[in-house]
Amino acid sequence: MDHFHYRDNVYFAEDVSLEAIAEQVGTPCYVYSRATLERHWRAFDDAFDGYPHTICYAVKANANLAVLNLFARMGSGFDIVSGGELERVLRAGGDPARVVFSGVGKGRDEIERAIAVGIQCFNVESAAELERIESLAAAASRRVRIAVRINPDVDARTHPYISTGLKENKFGIPVDEAVDVYRRAAASAHLEVSGVACHIGSQLTGMAPFEDAFARVLAFVDRLAGAGIELDHLDLGGGLGVRYRDESPPLPRDYTRALVACLERHGCSLPVTIEPGRVICANAGVFLTRVEYLKAGAARRFAVVDGAMNDLLRPALYQAWQEIVPVTIDETLPAYDYDVVGPVCESADFLGKERHLAIAPSALLAVRSAGAYGHVMSSNYNARPRCAEVMVDGDAFHVVRERETFEQLVAGERLLPA
Ligand SMILES: *Cc1c(COP(=O)(O)O)cnc(C)c1O
Repeated sequence: MDHFHYRDNVYFAEDVSLEAIAEQVGTPCYVYSRATLERHWRAFDDAFDGYPHTICYAVKANANLAVLNLFARMGSGFDIVSGGELERVLRAGGDPARVVFSGVGKGRDEIERAIAVGIQCFNVESAAELERIESLAAAASRRVRIAVRINPDVDARTHPYISTGLKENKFGIPVDEAVDVYRRAAASAHLEVSGVACHIGSQLTGMAPFEDAFARVLAFVDRLAGAGIELDHLDLGGGLGVRYRDESPPLPRDYTRALVACLERHGCSLPVTIEPGRVICANAGVFLTRVEYLKAGAARRFAVVDGAMNDLLRPALYQAWQEIVPVTIDETLPAYDYDVVGPVCESADFLGKERHLAIAPSALLAVRSAGAYGHVMSSNYNARPRCAEVMVDGDAFHVVRERETFEQLVAGERLLPA
């Protein structure tokens, strides 16, 4: 359920027409709905029905400071995958004591900074990383909490690029090696064994892979207990999918019920952490773009728009399908099948293919479900400044990121000396 809808044939975010935003902010831009973001976060929080839990929002899905700040105000924790994301969380008013740090390649300075600000937990992805964290904790005379991210070898049945829980993926530590890593951590004066972590992939549309992973995590917790290692939480990652087209993913409540049932069957009452990203943000944002030209090719019609793959990469990267709707419905116009393409010089530069649209030249289009893995993946390819982001709040809207200027785009570049 989101707060984007038509009112008298004009597409609105909450109580603001997207025509008004395009007029005042220009295109392309992202438009988020505060009410939708908050609703989705709360839906997950409420779905636990009192079971002890922490929601650590996955920052990489949408890292805009205003978005992070909304979640911080609601008491959210954060899952980060880089030092830059940690700084964003801090800048947005997030509590470092509710931050978990995931990722296979944590650098020294990233770890040092995370130790200095006192994050909740490092989700460790290799024995070498554990050693590095230990030596940096020792150097700082600190004791830091760790969880080992295990690789449960579960097929998430999602796009291969966003599948992370198979043994051929770079993520996590195989269960058979993980016990040893825990032994080493437990023996260290500078490490405190806190949890076990697992994240098997993104855009999962069925419960079965999750349940499979939960069961393997719980079996692993038993093995640890057998080795005398006790935990204080289970981190089950993110990954719950959303409806882009005709998927019918489990609802947050289906997910939490299955999770809690699994814990109960197992006699486990440990607090859980989850790291949802996409499910909170995807359908809380649209990408707003304007048609530059309608062009009839030899085989197809094209709607050439001012937004491109550098602004919204998912269609090019994952062949992802996102709904494209006209901001103004005009039933007097003829409808055709268009490939909606951007100005970038790549044939992968499309936002959608064969979309049946009744549009005039210069029409505004909204690409739906763009709130997650949208602006965060944007680049300056083709020397295109990164686009603006707008947050709608009831009948008001706020520019939460200015459109980048050319000067900002080249700010760090230098010519060679003459
Ligand atoms: C990307 C990621 C998430 C969030 O995944 P979603 O599919 O957006 O919910 C959570 N945890 C980790 C470790 C991740 O890498």
